Amino acid sequence: MQIQSATFETSAPDLEHCPGSDLPEFAFIGRSNVGKSSLINCLTNKKDLAVVSSKPGRTRMINFFLINRKWSLVDLPGYGYAKASGHQRGKFNEFVSDYLINRPNLSCVFVLIDSRLEPQRLDLEFTAWLVEYGVPFVLVFTKTDKVKPGAVTRCIEAFTHEMSEFCDGLPRVYQCSAKTSNGRKDILNFISEAIAMSK
Ligand code: GDP
Repeated sequence: MQIQSATFETSAPDLEHCPGSDLPEFAFIGRSNVGKSSLINCLTNKKDLAVVSSKPGRTRMINFFLINRKWSLVDLPGYGYAKASGHQRGKFNEFVSDYLINRPNLSCVFVLIDSRLEPQRLDLEFTAWLVEYGVPFVLVFTKTDKVKPGAVTRCIEAFTHEMSEFCDGLPRVYQCSAKTSNGRKDILNFISEAIAMSK
């Protein structure tokens, strides 16, 4: 997919205020610092598209970008559990969970995972929650230029192994580096295919 246009559309504080649209939507989420803004800028070939999402007042919002006038890229706030203890699974931002469960035109969620880290509890809890609610998602392991290829593979294996505890069939997995653009084409191809299938 060639990116012809990528523009900021709007920010919404909750599902009710999300723009009425029947364009396929692809949402990006991950722990803060995982490389979400960098990946969004890399995918769209815009140096500072995702900066919009980090402007005061927008970091806690659902931010919408219109791509090629054909699909929406949605920048979701990082996971923020109110109290991330024991039985708090599923209690992350209510408005984000509401969006993920109830947005009719949501095609797929890209869950970003830092490929330098051991499986993180918060990431596993979030993917378990997506599985529980039947929200379609793929995993994207970020910052692959920072680790050796073998280490990325081990990181993916460790994460998907943990996931197999609560998930029958594993999700698709992508790797990316915003620095080298590794994985960019694969992710855009996946989006193209998903759009074609939604027609
Ligand atoms: P966000 O908080 O998830 O939006 O993360 P950012 O995109 O702001 O990235 C956090 C930090 O990681 C910044 O210093 C980025 O320059 C760096 N970073 C993000 N992606 C990559 C990557 O693919 N490779 C490298 N080497 N650094 C990255």
